[in-house]
Amino acid sequence: MAWQPADNRYDTMKYNRCGKSGLKLPAISLGLWHNFGETTPHQTKREMCRTAFDLGITHFDLANNYGPPPGSAETAFGEILRTDFAGYRDELIISSKAGYDMWPGPYGEWGSRKYLIASCDQSLKRMGLDYVDIFYSHRFDPDTPLEETMMALAQIVRQGKALYVGISSYNSKRTKEAAKILKELGTPCLIHQPSYSMLNRWVEEDGLLDTLEEEGIGSIVFSPLAQGMLTNKYLNGVPDDSRAGKHVGSFQESFLNETTLGHIRSLNEIAQNRGQTLAQMALAWVLRKGRVTSALIGASRKEQVIDCAATINNLEFTEEELTAIDQYATE
Ligand code: NDP
Repeated sequence: MAWQPADNRYDTMKYNRCGKSGLKLPAISLGLWHNFGETTPHQTKREMCRTAFDLGITHFDLANNYGPPPGSAETAFGEILRTDFAGYRDELIISSKAGYDMWPGPYGEWGSRKYLIASCDQSLKRMGLDYVDIFYSHRFDPDTPLEETMMALAQIVRQGKALYVGISSYNSKRTKEAAKILKELGTPCLIHQPSYSMLNRWVEEDGLLDTLEEEGIGSIVFSPLAQGMLTNKYLNGVPDDSRAGKHVGSFQESFLNETTLGHIRSLNEIAQNRGQTLAQMALAWVLRKGRVTSALIGASRKEQVIDCAATINNLEFTEEELTAIDQYATE
């Protein structure tokens, strides 16, 4: 019998309005950057997606290059859409992006219209979709006129291949420029996807969060767990099956030096005193004061998705807790 999602899937998750748009996103979203390539068993991927949807996580974030190899995460997710999620497309928000190196030659990366349009077509084909809900420019291209990149995004919407557009990792100044162009093109910028965590606060220092508020743009923040550092997993060494232990991607074991580990232990104690896991506290922290629409997590197993989704049970912080967190997280 075909898999059925839980009847109570909308009972507990919190949904936040994305900027000034009509779209709401779950406070916790699931990204498929890691653990969705060909090296991860398909069953593990299915379990994570099913678990997420059962818990009201309606948003799945992809990009052309997620794998390994590049493209394989979209292919695997396409398979899940055809099997487990068949019949639920209208309950899902699916995003993809183009910006990083995807195919050889001058048209396979950055921000040209040539690349963005072709890449969006390829992503739709891999996932077996007519449209994605959100299509992003994955990074600012210093060599392509911003107008061209934004016109390509607007064209993708006009062609019916995406419902909304977003930008990722653009700084505050570029975001203002991009938002202005998109507004003039009649395709407002729905969302910005920057990195943000207790350990990585560039969006505050750069003024990006203020800009997003002023412009009415939502935000979904990636690596809110600092790729797993802001969890209890590294407190007693580096597990072989962890991102650091597997030596994949940009995460290096050297990030886990004794000073950082000492701070993570102290943060873990603060979380325990709040009755939360450290992962939950790290997610609640990026969502505090309602400035961020959604915290975009990654996971390697369904238990992590369950743990992260339970963040919404305690999103409040006292001033004392915030001060204590700053003491360990900003040194
Ligand atoms: P996180 O900071 O959430 O790190 C995810 C990792 O943390 C997991 O793989 C797992 O590590 C660990 N983890 C997650 N939950 C728990 C838990 N409850 N307990 C213990 N450990 C846990 O985010 P990512 O760095 O994975 O990024 C999330 C998403 O953001 C990506 O999938 C992608 O969609 C997006 N992204 C976007 C980028 C952009 O340029 N726009 C760049 C990077 C990411 P382990 O695997 O070791 O078990």
